[in-house]
Amino acid sequence: MSQVVTETMVRVEDVRKSYGRDGAAVHALRGVSFDVPRGELVALKGRSGSGKTTLLNIVGGLDTPDAGRVEVDGRDLATLDEDGLLALRRDRVGFVFQSFGLLPILTAAENVGVPMRLRRAAPRAREERVELLLSLVGLADHAAQRPGELSGGQQQRVAIARALANEPALLIADEPTGQLDAETGRSVMELLRAVVRGWGSPAGRSGHGGRVTALVATHDTTLLGLADRVLELRDGRIVED
Ligand code: ADP
Ligand code: MG
Repeated sequence: MSQVVTETMVRVEDVRKSYGRDGAAVHALRGVSFDVPRGELVALKGRSGSGKTTLLNIVGGLDTPDAGRVEVDGRDLATLDEDGLLALRRDRVGFVFQSFGLLPILTAAENVGVPMRLRRAAPRAREERVELLLSLVGLADHAAQRPGELSGGQQQRVAIARALANEPALLIADEPTGQLDAETGRSVMELLRAVVRGWGSPAGRSGHGGRVTALVATHDTTLLGLADRVLELRDGRIVED
């Protein structure tokens, strides 16, 4: 893929998405438009069912809209075929989910290394980056532990390290603190904030000016305070920008 540097990381224009059909259709997104500038941490709030997950999945190329336009890092997602979307998800976007999504039989270090294996990174470079990432998320001493041997907060830190493995331009997190207690959730949010402020690394080694952008769905008022901007979804529409 080309390395065009745009100042707008995410551009969403009049995106619509329904599930089911005709009389029984659920209108998850009813014409959503917003931009996320490169380097910002944008929070997406809204009640359960307001369309947050649908929107994040569409922005991340995991789902397609019925109508409207989505650009990520200068690419119109409608122009990408399955391979193009796969490459986008693997190389440009890091995902963090509420339920962590770690592979239980792999160690923390092996989990973090998975995206680099998929990209066929050289083993030596992979091991070095895994070590760097685990120390950046405060888990240097836990590299050999499996998810079942880690706390929820530690598992989410591993998931964040994994999401950063391939130096993504965009981090998408769907209620990343939803399964954590308030204090642990706060520290995970502060970690995301540190990632997006740039740290110097790993973002600084990422090849796009050290600027990771994040779009984070949350109910967590702590994160709302840490975000550069808060968008609110209500019944499939943005009501506050
Ligand atoms: P949120 O993440 O804010 O809770 P979602 O995006 O998950 O909201 O859901 C928005 C609406 O779309 C809800 O009414 C939900 O029930 C519906 N919905 C989401 N995914 C599906 C699906 N795969 N099939 C049918 N309805 C869905
Ligand atoms: Mg959701």
